[in-house]
Amino acid sequence: MQGKPTKCEGCPLFDRGRGFVFPDDSSKPTSLVVIGSGVTETDVELNQNFHSQCPSGKRTRYQLEQAGFDLETVRFANVIGCWLPKGTTKDGRAWGNDVPTVEAMGSCWRRWLQPWLGELNPRFLVASGNAARRFLLGPQIGERYNGTINRLERMP
Ligand code: SF4
Repeated sequence: MQGKPTKCEGCPLFDRGRGFVFPDDSSKPTSLVVIGSGVTETDVELNQNFHSQCPSGKRTRYQLEQAGFDLETVRFANVIGCWLPKGTTKDGRAWGNDVPTVEAMGSCWRRWLQPWLGELNPRFLVASGNAARRFLLGPQIGERYNGTINRLERMP
């Protein structure tokens, strides 16, 4: 599990969030950007966003391939780059995925996603999961927007 870069210092999740996964390499040709609602335990352990050994990563990658995307040109990231456990077992093991606050997502956005997206300047961006969708499209966005295509007039 990778430690947090100094750029994370001052974030409200600096102590609580576990590990860190950088957004994908922005220097490679990109057809699509996928932003998820938070990295998982598997992601931080294996140091990859949407890792195929995690059910959500496996499903997302499979669906993209079925839709005809070359995964080599898809860049993945998450609204927060550290794993936010939901709780701790009696023997002290962290488990689950908690929902990040808007404040925490904003903190991660300014430090990591905003400059990363500025470099990529993608035409198409998939917001995967409730937290990512609500953060990127606005809190008024409900589940009826699942699977829809929306024009993003401006970034958060
Ligand atoms: S939420 Fe983002 S900025 Fe904050 S500690 Fe986690 S990875 Fe770093």
